[in-house]
Amino acid sequence: MTFHPRKNLRALLLAAVAPFAATAPAMAGEARNVIVFLGDAGGVPTLSAGGILAHDRPQSLFIQSMPNIALSDTSALDVWVTDSAAGMTAIMTGRKTNNAMVSMTPATTPGGKPTSIKTLLEYAEQRGLSTGVVTNQPIWDATPAATFAHVAKRSDKDAIFAQMLAPRFGNGVDILIGKGRADALASFAARGTSADKAFGKAGYRFGEDPALVAGATRAAVLRDSDFAPTPAVEATIAQLAKNPKGYFLMVEWDMHTDDPRAGLRHVVEMDDMIRRIHEIAGKDTLILFTADHSFGLRMTGGSRDKPLAEQYDPASKSVISVEPSHTGEEVVVAASGPGAEQVHGFMPNTRLFDIMLSALGWKRDE
Ligand SMILES: [Zn+2]
Repeated sequence: MTFHPRKNLRALLLAAVAPFAATAPAMAGEARNVIVFLGDAGGVPTLSAGGILAHDRPQSLFIQSMPNIALSDTSALDVWVTDSAAGMTAIMTGRKTNNAMVSMTPATTPGGKPTSIKTLLEYAEQRGLSTGVVTNQPIWDATPAATFAHVAKRSDKDAIFAQMLAPRFGNGVDILIGKGRADALASFAARGTSADKAFGKAGYRFGEDPALVAGATRAAVLRDSDFAPTPAVEATIAQLAKNPKGYFLMVEWDMHTDDPRAGLRHVVEMDDMIRRIHEIAGKDTLILFTADHSFGLRMTGGSRDKPLAEQYDPASKSVISVEPSHTGEEVVVAASGPGAEQVHGFMPNTRLFDIMLSALGWKRDE
C-alpha cells in the first residue's frame, strides 16, 4: 500500500476532527458555567403543541434541536405525581423527597425532623461562583425556592424570604428576578423591617425593573407583573459571567396550561430565550432544559391546510384538550455544552444533579 501523506492526513482529519467536533464527549469538570432552564409543567405534549401552534411546523423549537436528550422520571418520594417542590428538589439536590418539601428530605424516625439537603446553587456559592435565579413566578414559589431555601412546607414564604437573605453558603443568590413583590413587602414588614432595607443591607440593588441588573454585582428585582424574559436573562448573564470562577443560573418559565393560550405562549417565549442565550453563553457552559413534571395537555386534532392557531378554540377540545393537573409520565431533558453527553436514555430526575456536579468537576459531599 502506497503512503500518501497528504491524503492520509486529510482522511485522518476528516475521520477524527469532523465528527469529533460535533459530538465530542466533554471530560468531567469542563464546564465553567451551568444554566438550567426549567419549563414548569413543560411536558413533551405541551412543548410539541406550543411549537406547532406558534410555527406550524413539527419540532420547530430550539429545544427540539439540542444535541443530547433524555427522558426523566419525575415521581416524588411519597407519590407518583410530583409537585414543583419535590420535582425541583430532586433536580437541585439529587434526592427525591415528598411533595411540598423544598430541598429537605422527610424525617427518617418517628418524631424526627426533616433534613436540609445542599443544593447545587449552594455548592456553587460555597466555591465562590456567582449565582442567579430568574422566574416568571413568585420568587418564593417552590421551584425558585428549591435552589436556595430549605422548608418542610412550600407555603412557608416568610421562612423562604428569611433564608433568601441568610444563606448557608457564600453570600447567597447574587441576582434574583421574579414576581411576588407584594408578598416580599408584607413578609419583611411583618418582621418590623422593610424589603428595601433588608435587601439593601444584604448588598442588593433592589427594585422592580430588570434593567437595574445592569452593572449590579447583586440585584433583587421583585415585581408583580410579567416581564420580557430574554433581556432580563441576558442582563443577568452579563453580570454573572464577570466572575472568572463561573456561575450557576436557574431560569424558570411557567408553562402550566390551566390557561392553555398563556401556557403555550410561555413555551415559545422560553424557547426563544434559550435560543438567544445559547448564542451568547460560552462553549464552557452546560445548558440544560427540563421540566419538573408534565401536565395533562394533549393535541387531539387540527388539519395542516391552515394555521393551527386559526383552528384552535380553547373552549373546544377538538384541537388541544387540557385536563388541568400535573401528570406522572417522563419529561424531556435537552442539553448542550460540556457534560451534555451524560444526558441520554431514561433516567431519574435526580441524575440531573449528578450531571451538573460532575460537569463542574465537583463531588457530592454527603
Ligand atoms: Zn411545577
